[in-house]
Amino acid sequence: MKKCPICEKGNLKEGEIEEKMFGISLGRYKAEICAECGESFVDEGTMKAIEQKARQLGIWGLTKKIKIVRSGNSLAIRIPADIARFLKLQEGKELFLHPEGTTKLAIEII
Ligand SMILES: [Zn+2]
Repeated sequence: MKKCPICEKGNLKEGEIEEKMFGISLGRYKAEICAECGESFVDEGTMKAIEQKARQLGIWGLTKKIKIVRSGNSLAIRIPADIARFLKLQEGKELFLHPEGTTKLAIEII
């Protein structure tokens, strides 16, 4: 039996996981799952299949590093074009903005 490399306590068992990216399901895949901590591991082929699916759905690479800029008395962020396209955002669209804890900012499309 293979031991879990994360917790080093549990044994890995064959199972199935649902892979998600940004809350969107990428499907179910075979994985080795730790009986102790629940961490799951997929092989390289599965990793490629997951990436392929994310590319197909147009959500691969949508995590971007951006910088805050000053705009009058406010601070502004620019939404990269591919994220705007994916979310169908346009100039003049209204959004709700709220903090989620102290390290995350949520933008809700209304
Ligand atoms: Zn574990």
